[in-house]
Amino acid sequence: MPILTIESTCDETAAAVMDDQCRVLGECIATQEALHERFGGVVPEVAARAHLERILPVIDTAIRQAGISPGAIEAIAVADRPGLAGSLLVGVIAAKTLAIAWEKPLVAINHLHAHLYACQLASDEVVYPCIGLVVSGGHTSLYHCTSPLDLEYLGGTIDDAAGEAFDKVATMLSLGFPGGPAVAKLAETGNRSAYRFPRSMIHEDHFNFSFSGLKTAVRYAIVGPGQQDFSALKIAESVKADISASFEAAVIDVLVNKSRRAIAKYGCPYLIVGGGVAANKHLREKLLQAAAEDGFRVTIAPINLCTDNAVMGAIAWEKIRRSDFAALDLDITPGLQRGF
Ligand code: ATP
Ligand code: MG
Ligand code: FE
Repeated sequence: MPILTIESTCDETAAAVMDDQCRVLGECIATQEALHERFGGVVPEVAARAHLERILPVIDTAIRQAGISPGAIEAIAVADRPGLAGSLLVGVIAAKTLAIAWEKPLVAINHLHAHLYACQLASDEVVYPCIGLVVSGGHTSLYHCTSPLDLEYLGGTIDDAAGEAFDKVATMLSLGFPGGPAVAKLAETGNRSAYRFPRSMIHEDHFNFSFSGLKTAVRYAIVGPGQQDFSALKIAESVKADISASFEAAVIDVLVNKSRRAIAKYGCPYLIVGGGVAANKHLREKLLQAAAEDGFRVTIAPINLCTDNAVMGAIAWEKIRRSDFAALDLDITPGLQRGF
């Protein structure tokens, strides 16, 4: 029997129905991008309210698409960590309520582990053991993964996440939200070495990242120290393109360098990469190039499974196989501390 997976950790309300071969029988994603655009970032209260309005229609759509009745569902899985508290609550309460009403077992999913599992879904072979790189809107983390569910945190960002940096640079360049795709598109026409932006901690012998200095360097390239207002600035398209390209190159250099060092240190044959920033074309190319040079294999999440979705919640099957179910008093774990 198939499972129902629910995802509401940030600003996408999503549900999917998948069989035990991880085939997608039904899927629905309601994105909130338009709601948050004018704020230049996700506003937690706005996100929670939107999840509340959408969660039941989204679940209903996924189940109808699958053409099954609730009775035919094996278990209900929900991402309970990490994420925005209000957003997580909506998904977890919906999942618990349905689990009680339909008398189904509940499975709790770690959203970051699910981002990485998108790589396994795209691969014909088992990709574990591997090094996992999560590059998303809220996280930039490296893991040593011995299985989909056994991940050792090696390091992560000590300030901004890579996706967050893309979004903030996009705001500075008036490119809208979410900024990653817009910066990436402009970067294609820019000169990647027009600006020499910092590659923080790139040579340091640990797996932490820092992108706030890079963000500040971009800011100073645009307005100079002390100046606040970007909105009135008229920046030539070619300058925007050069800044975007140079910024993107700096982020990618650090991500690729740290990943290949983790591979070398742990002797893993595989690198897997998930999260919204993994959709970045240039990052994908550079990772494949590094893999060819160093002799490891890389699996990057398919583009449609990079940003938030419920299909990557198929990781729930791994938990079901271990009989690892959640109790009905399952609570959210927003996970503001590092090491997730
Ligand atoms: P987290 O998974 O850490 O909770 P999130 O779920 O909000 O955060 P994702 O949905 O995985 O994040 O990814 C969204 C991020 O990916 C945004 O910051 C967005 O700008 C970035 N992004 C999307 N496409 C691209 C791209 N082509 N290049 C760079 N960044 C991108
Ligand atoms: Mg999102
Ligand atoms: Fe995410």
